[in-house]
Amino acid sequence: MTAPLRAPDPILVNVALGARSYDIVIGRGTLSSLGHRIAALRPGAKAAIVTDSNVARYHLAAATAALELCGIGAAVVTVPAGEGSKSFAVLEQVCEALIEKRIERGDLVIALGGGVVGDLAGFAAAAVRRGLDYVQVPTTLLAQVDSSVGGKTAIDSKHGKNLIGAFHQPILVVADTALLDSLPLREFRAGYAEVAKYGLIGNVAFFSRLEDDWRDVFAGGAAREQAIATSCRAKAATVSRDERETGERALLNLGHTFGHALEAAAGFSDRLLHGEAISIGMVLAFEFSAKRGLLLAATAEKVARHLAAVGLPTHLSAVAGIVTGADQLMDLIAQDKKVRRGRLTFILARGIGKAFVAPDVDAAEVRAFLAEKLAER
Ligand code: NAD
Repeated sequence: MTAPLRAPDPILVNVALGARSYDIVIGRGTLSSLGHRIAALRPGAKAAIVTDSNVARYHLAAATAALELCGIGAAVVTVPAGEGSKSFAVLEQVCEALIEKRIERGDLVIALGGGVVGDLAGFAAAAVRRGLDYVQVPTTLLAQVDSSVGGKTAIDSKHGKNLIGAFHQPILVVADTALLDSLPLREFRAGYAEVAKYGLIGNVAFFSRLEDDWRDVFAGGAAREQAIATSCRAKAATVSRDERETGERALLNLGHTFGHALEAAAGFSDRLLHGEAISIGMVLAFEFSAKRGLLLAATAEKVARHLAAVGLPTHLSAVAGIVTGADQLMDLIAQDKKVRRGRLTFILARGIGKAFVAPDVDAAEVRAFLAEKLAER
């Protein structure tokens, strides 16, 4: 009988932030190492897992078992799935539950879920007892490549998304790529937009690789781990250089000015997921760059072709019932972004992998471009 194949070693990516540095552990099956990694980092610490109702169904038992294996007893706080949980009401419930379950300074909060749970549990950890350590166990593709890394935590205000929060870095991120097998395809695709984003911002070779390998990324082969690791390396490097987004970190917002306006037009509902909006937003950013003579129209078409191939929306026609006109989108952009004397800051590109911050874009030019794109529908 042949020996069973050993699971390959996980890929480690370090987020270098001096005393607050931490590892991202990426690979199939890494959840089973959660207990011993935590025991090594914080011997004797108690833990509370914050999760949502969907993730609890699929992955809570495995997470609890991994902790129990190392003698770590974990309390569990389950919140309803969905963006609605990034609210004052649910934050209060989570904070009170952590206090009630006697999670003290020196203990740990474990965020087991997608970006919603990560943002909520991270913010609760930042606030309870003036700051508890926390570990991210991201369970969506978006969370594994984006929201679990970098320490941005937040809930939503009635005035807009993510307006109440804190920078609070986790002490560890365990990204078990097998957990994504239970993720609905639409959510996986939405997260994939953020993966492609890293290629579009600064790594043309990665974008080319994705064009060849995306099916294996979706299927859960080795390309998935590699794509997540490459994305995390890009995010980690950016965060290390600009933790508080005073400069370079803004590049991560490629496609987000247009994308946020589309999400807002859809009322931040399931009609348009964040990644779907970012997919359209990135294509618009490349088309706008082409219109300004920064890159060839064929390059913008290549970007759109790849995103469409994986099943993401790439054109404003996909939001026909949501977007009423260029003025509506410009109003939403103005609510989201500062418009100084008719000028906007945009992330534009000189090619695939060559994104840059353009601080002085004429709002009237953006409006004319959007009107033109809307007329194409
Ligand atoms: P999400 O957390 O709502 O997860 C999407 C859906 O998938 C939910 O219904 C969830 O219950 C379900 N789910 C999660 N993991 C699953 C799994 N393994 N199997 C089956 N179902 C699963 O959404 P998201 O896209 O992960 O995150 C979006 C949030 O992330 C937004 O609130 C956004 O503002 C935030 N975000 C934060 C940052 C940051 O830097 N902090 C960056 C990007 C986005």
